Amino acid sequence: MQARLAVISDVHGNAPALDAALSAIEEDHVAGLVCLGDSVGYGASPHRCVERLLELGARLVAHVRGNHEEALFSAESFAEMNPTARKAILWSARSLAPSHRAWLARCPGVASLGPVQLVHDNPIPATSTYLRDATAACQAFRGVASEICLVGHTHVPLLFETTRPEPDAEPHPEEVIAHLLHPDEPFALEQGRRYILNPGSVGQPRDGDPRASYGVLDLDRRTFTLRRVEYDVAAAQRAMQEAGLPDPLAERLAIGA
Ligand code: ZN
Repeated sequence: MQARLAVISDVHGNAPALDAALSAIEEDHVAGLVCLGDSVGYGASPHRCVERLLELGARLVAHVRGNHEEALFSAESFAEMNPTARKAILWSARSLAPSHRAWLARCPGVASLGPVQLVHDNPIPATSTYLRDATAACQAFRGVASEICLVGHTHVPLLFETTRPEPDAEPHPEEVIAHLLHPDEPFALEQGRRYILNPGSVGQPRDGDPRASYGVLDLDRRTFTLRRVEYDVAAAQRAMQEAGLPDPLAERLAIGA
């Protein structure tokens, strides 16, 4: 088990943001990277993003499938999306190489690495409820069998902590705390607790900060650290306009919403 990992999620076909995050990760001296899914959808460069992830080779320790990847392969998941997201998925499906589609189809829905479990949206199987607050996290801890569960999906970096260490136990509401994460300030993970960690989104942040977001999980030092990286938002927007993707998708990148 590699002890220091970069955690990326929700790249959403945004190549300038992924490039900036991968360059910054070079400085984090990690043993590997994990990706929590939704590498495609919304943005204009799904092909380039999958290519860059594949170029990481064995350094990409795990990539779980997100709901946008599900929508490429499942009519049911596609039907659950809003019309704007559907347009982007249809566009992404056309621009991905067959080998990229095959790779995404092979990515598992969940993965585990030692004390860490990885899932795109919610650790309870077949549930995609957004983990935006302690109430939602409380129920989700029922699906957290290990010490740490990494999730994406909300595009908002957030950490949930419970004092109930037993695997799969649902804590009482007063036993769950939601913590906002501040860039470059390591959050200490205590023994005898369970955590749900969300690194935010590389390619479409929604917490009011347009910078690309990712996390560094250090299992030796027992810390989780949020990172934010500036990238060329205008270049990502131009590529989306040229691709004919819906304007609101490009506009939201500038405000991180
Ligand atoms: Zn997403």
